[in-house]
Amino acid sequence: MKILFLDQSGKPGGAELCLIDIAKPYRDNCLVGLFADGDFRTLLEKNHIPVQVLTTQSIQVRKESSFAQGLASIGQLIPLLAKVVQTAREYDLIYANTQKALVVGAIASFLSGRPLVYHLHDILSPEHFSQTNRSIAVTAANRASLVIANSQASKTAFIEAGGRADITTVVYNGFDPKNYQIDASIIHQTRQQLELAGKFVVGHFSRLAPWKGQHILIEALTQCPQEVTAILVGDALFGEQEYVQQLHQQIAKLGLENRVKFLGFRADIPQLMSACDLVAHTSTAAEPFGRVIVEAMLCGKPIIAAKAGGAIELVEHGINGFLSTPGESQELAQIITSCLQEPEKTAIIAHHAQTTASQRFDVKNINQQIAQELLTKQ
Ligand code: UDP
Repeated sequence: MKILFLDQSGKPGGAELCLIDIAKPYRDNCLVGLFADGDFRTLLEKNHIPVQVLTTQSIQVRKESSFAQGLASIGQLIPLLAKVVQTAREYDLIYANTQKALVVGAIASFLSGRPLVYHLHDILSPEHFSQTNRSIAVTAANRASLVIANSQASKTAFIEAGGRADITTVVYNGFDPKNYQIDASIIHQTRQQLELAGKFVVGHFSRLAPWKGQHILIEALTQCPQEVTAILVGDALFGEQEYVQQLHQQIAKLGLENRVKFLGFRADIPQLMSACDLVAHTSTAAEPFGRVIVEAMLCGKPIIAAKAGGAIELVEHGINGFLSTPGESQELAQIITSCLQEPEKTAIIAHHAQTTASQRFDVKNINQQIAQELLTKQ
């Protein structure tokens, strides 16, 4: 099957990293069309997945854009649309991986006669999207032959926003467990390099954005024993520089300069996670899926996740990880402290999570599920 994947982003967020795994089996017969250039293109090329940047003009619609702003962007879309329609005619199916890709993909599907599949990586709730954006996304998605939701939480929000249940199925992100097995010598070396020896290290792996809640972890540190240190891995991918400044100010105000390290965007997540004692996920709004939660499990690290959205489908409190109320730094601090004080009990939970996650999210099984779904829609 020849697939034209579409993604609006030049930057490798969770949806883009997921797409790499989905596109890999089709790399001899697919093209990933991007609406922006950037590190994501390089990553696709490294994975030998054919990629083309389809426009150099950035599309000005944002998650919170109004109807008028949306309309104003239509003019920008026409040359891109023409290119996508022309390209789509050489493929059997259009696979849209992001919302702007969905809108372009839906029109191109209509004009080229190719079926449309939409991979929904978002919770279409007012917390995350404007009313206009939700209506446009749902109208476009309802024209698809198939909507793959990345969690039950994403599927439920989609249906509540008017999405069609009959075309929607849940498929979780897939991972190759081998990528998360890190040699003890590398872990030791990483801890030395980052000057983490003797510390109890809590890792936070996410782009720096207010709703990802790095500030909650920083607040929690003040209520944890002194040896608890945090590494913040990730960058402000979508212009959240003000938040980055606020985080630095918060750290300075609380006198935590020696207990928090910013590592920026990194490509060696499994190594860094394995060098942590614990991974914290602190999103203050419902997380659609939460790749970092599964990645922590695969590294055999205890995970504390914010209790909302897709995270609840991944973590059972006290069984394969811990759940903490979103935004509640005191509760988070208590769980971190009990993990520090009860290492044996915590290790059993992390080990159980590693075993079960290796099966449940194995990329081979996930890709098979997707392949079967796509075959019926061709
Ligand atoms: N990630 C990364 N480098 C970083 C920070 C994060 O590669 O410096 C990866 C992380 O390992 C995960 C993805 O980015 O695979 C984030 O996905 P998630 O579902 O957690 O959040 P999203 O970015 O999709 O909101």
